[in-house]
Amino acid sequence: MDLRAALHQHFGFSEFRPGQEAAVRAAVAGQDVLVVMPTGAGKSLCYQLPALVGPDLTIVVSPLVSLMQDQVAALERRAPGMAAIVNSQQDAAANAGALARARDGSLRLLYVAPERFSSPVFLKAIEGVPIGLFVVDEAHCVSQWGHDFRPDYFRLADAARWLGARALVASTATATTEVARDIIARLGLHDPAIVTTGFDRPNLSFAVVPCATTADKHARIAAALAQDGARPAIVYAGTRKAADRLAERLAAQLGIEVLAYHAGLGRAERTEAQRRFMAGEVEVVVATNAFGMGVDKADVRTVAHEVVPPSVEAYYQEAGRAGRDGEPARALLFAEPRDKGLHVFFIQRAEVSDTLLDGVARRLIAASPEGRFDVAVAELDDEPERVRAIVGHLARAGVVQPAPAPMDRVRGRLAGPYDGRARAAA
Ligand code: ADP
Ligand code: MG
Repeated sequence: MDLRAALHQHFGFSEFRPGQEAAVRAAVAGQDVLVVMPTGAGKSLCYQLPALVGPDLTIVVSPLVSLMQDQVAALERRAPGMAAIVNSQQDAAANAGALARARDGSLRLLYVAPERFSSPVFLKAIEGVPIGLFVVDEAHCVSQWGHDFRPDYFRLADAARWLGARALVASTATATTEVARDIIARLGLHDPAIVTTGFDRPNLSFAVVPCATTADKHARIAAALAQDGARPAIVYAGTRKAADRLAERLAAQLGIEVLAYHAGLGRAERTEAQRRFMAGEVEVVVATNAFGMGVDKADVRTVAHEVVPPSVEAYYQEAGRAGRDGEPARALLFAEPRDKGLHVFFIQRAEVSDTLLDGVARRLIAASPEGRFDVAVAELDDEPERVRAIVGHLARAGVVQPAPAPMDRVRGRLAGPYDGRARAAA
């Protein structure tokens, strides 16, 4: 098949970007594919083009309604009438209409929210429709301890098999081998073609700004954001409290409105904050890592961190939200000496962990005698990231059994009567 011609016909592009042609070719041939490319690289085309040239329906699972809407709106401009959405935020008539078009063969792509696969009405409606590709977008969401984990993603491997999909395509911008391995295992990808590109972002400049104290740090962040061309800006803070505090301080020092964004706000408040930032009504948002996926504002000029993220991977994701338009942008990491301490502590915990884990396990039991640690955690700490790291370790040590939980919660039970010694995982 002449894929270049198809690319031009359906999208009006004259060239494939790096990696796209290999991914498209594998998917068209019916091979499972794992696409690992940075945000903005063009992952969607890797499954949209095969969907448009193939005879059967492609199902695309995506974690956020806004991501589905963006893709369908873009497809509507290029290939009208080929794509539709099924999700719970849309009324029953719209969902029924989309499913009817899927059944009568007029659709090529059906975007489906992951929780639909537990709906008998949906499953019954889609049963028997020949499925070509089953696509899992933002596939790192299957990885349990990744920071975007979605419990509903666990069901997708079964759903794809049940639907009789010819091939699976998983795509993500998360580049670690652990996550790739997790995606392949949990989605049951069979002998996948793994397509990756470089992760260089030449228009971004990176700098670490050493700070003496937290007050010094806040003053330096304010000074950086006061410079010409430094905004729009996202500032990442470590905790909800820190985000609120810094937002207030920056608003006072810069003399502009600054919004805080974190999981402690209601859904409506968060949506509104995001909308105002995207629309340019507010130029600075101070956020926890709850502000992430789906935030696709092209002209962010600065991403500042007032905390050192837990991994290089997390840092790349967050810093990478700057300069999506290809214009120069800055990623600034403001660090004081003690910021390193917490991470060093966690890195070394493998050695010190008998004592550490024992202490945490005892605190969990004290806070929830029934052994339910979602309750216990709520009483212990408001830093989900840190709590999740500890619970992850306790799980590997066999002390607790974690259960799938929403992004900002940690939930599960103690694995059994506690013998007072949590041993470090091997
Ligand atoms: P990702 O999912 O990897 O973050 P997208 O699939 O949303 O990226 O694509 C980002 C942008 O790149 C979109 O505007 C898309 O139309 C554009 N794009 C993708 N492939 C090409 C191409 N071969 N030529 C030109 N533009 C492309
Ligand atoms: Mg994408």
